[in-house]
Formats: sequence, C-alpha cells, structure tokens
Amino acid sequence: MKFYLGTNWKMHRTNTEAVHYITEFLPLLREQDLSRHYLFVIPSFTSLQLVRNAVTEAAVPLKVGAQNVHWEDGVEATGEISVRILADIPVDLVEIGHSERRQKFGETDLEVNRKARAVLGHGLSALICVGENGAEKEKGIGSQALERQVRSGLDCIPPGDLSRVMLAYEPTWAIGVVGKPADPTYVQEKHAAIRETLNNMYSVEIAAEVPLLYGGSVNRLNFRSYAEIAHVDGLFVGRAAWNPQSFLELIGMSRAFV
Ligand code: PEP
Repeated sequence: MKFYLGTNWKMHRTNTEAVHYITEFLPLLREQDLSRHYLFVIPSFTSLQLVRNAVTEAAVPLKVGAQNVHWEDGVEATGEISVRILADIPVDLVEIGHSERRQKFGETDLEVNRKARAVLGHGLSALICVGENGAEKEKGIGSQALERQVRSGLDCIPPGDLSRVMLAYEPTWAIGVVGKPADPTYVQEKHAAIRETLNNMYSVEIAAEVPLLYGGSVNRLNFRSYAEIAHVDGLFVGRAAWNPQSFLELIGMSRAFV
C-alpha cells in the first residue's frame, strides 16, 4: 500500500495565500519520486478551483480534496455545496466528518454516512474522519464510540466502493492547538480495533483496501512514532504541513515507510 499523507487547511487560507502556498509547493513536488505516495491537500471551497488548476498544470501527483459536502443535489439548500458541484471542479476526494464539523456544527453519524454515500456514488473518494471525544475517552467508552462511527459511517456502502474509502482516526482531544498528542501505543490499539471492525463488516481482503490514517498534532518530532505503527497507513496532518517546506520535510520522513 502507498503511504498516505495530506493536510487540511481548515478556514485558514485566502485565495492569495493559497496561491503563495501552491506556487512554492508544486515545484518542490516535481523534484520528488512520489510513486509510492498518495499526497493530498484540502483547501477551502473558495480556493479549490485555483488549486486544482495549478496542480493539473504542474502535473504533480497531488490530490485535491474538499472539506465538506452536502449529500443532496438540486434541492433548496442555501450555502451548501453538492457533490455534483465538487465533481465538476473536479476534486479527487472529499473529507467527511472532521471532528470540528461533528462538534461545532452538530454533524451526526447519519449525516456522515449520507455524505459518504453521495461522494462514492459520484465516483469520488471519501476521507471519513472518526474519533472519540475527550468525555468518551474519560468514561472508557472511546472504543465503542469509534466502532459506532465506523459502522454507521460505512453503513450500506458496498464492497465495490471500498477502494475509494480512506479512514482517518483523529481523536478529538488530540487535534489542534489545544490538542494533546496521543500515545503511540494508544493509537496502535485503536487502529487495530478499526481494522478489526472493517474485517468484520467486509471480508479481510476487501477491508485491506481501506487505508487507515492517523491524525492529531502530528509533527516532525513525533512523525516516526506514528508512521511506524502497524495498521497506520498514513498520516493526516494539520498545522505541521501548513508551510510548504514543513510538508516537504514530512514527505521526506515518510520515505522510510514506503
Ligand atoms: C486536524 O485538524 O485534522 C488535525 C490533525 O490538525 P492538527 O494536526 O493541527 O492537530
């Protein structure tokens, strides 16, 4: 399996800033052998087209993703973006169920599943984020929360679509500036549990098609400790890849794991 590595810009970049990033980053990528990598960047909706165009023109293997989507199309839903609109750009993947969406915007397991089915139904890839919150961890029900999110997120998704699904395990309490980096042993347990859930839902062979990414305060200092874990197929990075040179450094570090 390739090594998966990508970043979500969240609500951080104007178009001007996106151009600066991409103008610096793409030439750096052109010098790299990325045949064993699946790299992605997830800008704001407003920068998607310009990033897409720049990536296509540079002919570098960088996937472009959207941060969210609505599961319906052609209905009255002011302020929302449909998969059809995203597919026209075109984006390669859509991130679904990030913990900030679940926590700040009340996104439910059912909505995550609807979005995943819509994205896969249009032939795009879905990066589904799952992870227990701090209260669930404290109560000792983190694993149940995780299993519930995986099972409901993938509900009714046929085995044939699984090759376009990526799962990111991102414990809510480990993400962002106030996040506390998770112990690698803890991450190992959770990734093994997610793999087991997938094996039970599908066959072992089909489940093996789904890469499991870890995310939550990953940086250049702890990168290796997560990348080397069994069942960690890649890393989903926020802040530590918001500078092109830092992203490039992480790509360099990942070479030990491809
Ligand atoms: C994230 O927001 O998904 C994330 C992993 O962010 P950070 O790496 O900054 O904790």
